Amino acid sequence: MMSRRPLIAGNWKMNCLKSDGTALAAGIAEKYAAAVNPKCDVLVCPPAIWILPVVDAVKGRIAVGAEDAHAAESGAHTGDISVPMIKDAGASFVIVGHSERRTDHHETDAEVKAKAEAVISHGLTAIICIGETEAERDAGKTIEVCRTQIQGSVPDKATAENVVIAYEPVWAIGTGRTPTTQDVADVHAAVRAEIAAKLGKETADGMRILYGGSVKPSNAAELMALADVDGALVGGASLKVADFWAIIETCL
Ligand code: PEP
Repeated sequence: MMSRRPLIAGNWKMNCLKSDGTALAAGIAEKYAAAVNPKCDVLVCPPAIWILPVVDAVKGRIAVGAEDAHAAESGAHTGDISVPMIKDAGASFVIVGHSERRTDHHETDAEVKAKAEAVISHGLTAIICIGETEAERDAGKTIEVCRTQIQGSVPDKATAENVVIAYEPVWAIGTGRTPTTQDVADVHAAVRAEIAAKLGKETADGMRILYGGSVKPSNAAELMALADVDGALVGGASLKVADFWAIIETCL
């Protein structure tokens, strides 16, 4: 099996003023720079308005990403931000299809796919989020929902280099609740099998699949030890240097 370098990614959502955000990013970047031979990649995704100062603050030591992007290059889309703008600001990743975007902004799989296509066409990496709601889980549809989202949201041009999948059960995001490790292992294995069906086994074996949903220092080691879990997408616990660093340390 191809070895996959874990990625620990922080999604700040709509949090942090400039001084808090730059201090947080610089704090993580300094610790990462001091780590000897780190065995994982680290990414912070601040609100778009803070991408530029955060890129300055991390001094190239860790990666910076955006939380969303419009699929178009430019044009009449008031309030939106394009992938070329994100790239120009120095970011290298874009989260697309986060459940909060799918819910709050009614984003469909087709829109998420178009966004991911824009991200990869500009040489950035798309983190494509998938995951079931609580009702879908209760109805036994978790794997079916993830498979449909993969088929609908992942571009045909996706490779192990330009796409990362984040499996985030919607009911686990920001709630403190997590699936059992067996459930996470089962869904990640099913996600990898579906990627293999869509893009081939080699691509699937190399593609990173992150787990997201109430990852914290106390549960990270157990989750990160699972065979098909290649890192984490972290919301709340990415907002404090000590907590985010403790999660990073489980893969370091
Ligand atoms: C997220 O927003 O992607 C997330 C996983 O949030 P939290 O870690 O707070 O559950």
